[in-house]
Amino acid sequence: MSFLQRVGNAVQRFMYGRNGLDQLGKCTLWLMVGVNVIRIFLRSGLLAAVLGVLSTLLAIITLFRFFSRNLYRRRGENTAFLNKVWYPLQRRFSGTRNRVMDKEHCYFTCDRCRAVCRVPRGKGNIIITCPRCGNQIRAKS
Ligand SMILES: [Zn+2]
Repeated sequence: MSFLQRVGNAVQRFMYGRNGLDQLGKCTLWLMVGVNVIRIFLRSGLLAAVLGVLSTLLAIITLFRFFSRNLYRRRGENTAFLNKVWYPLQRRFSGTRNRVMDKEHCYFTCDRCRAVCRVPRGKGNIIITCPRCGNQIRAKS
């Protein structure tokens, strides 16, 4: 067995039963990177000091969660993060991306109920009746 294989096995044994990098861990890690990138441009001042403390806290949280053996609590935190932050953001941006990619339809948001109405492109001036609340939207498609 080579040296690298032995090191790999030792790391694997060490990480067994530990939380590792989940979605919340990746998020805190990228937040920390983002905060540090901002700090590079600030150099000095109160804001840079505050961001330095924030970056350190994020590093501590990331490392604590990475090496934690309390999988039950860490999975609970990760699930709460996914349900309250990640999935709503993902839903919002996947809708926006689909709208940008769709060249055959125009999308209008109802002023009254915020429902998104899709109509075919190239029909000129039209009146759209919202399927949810019946509000009428005048638009050009
Ligand atoms: Zn509506």
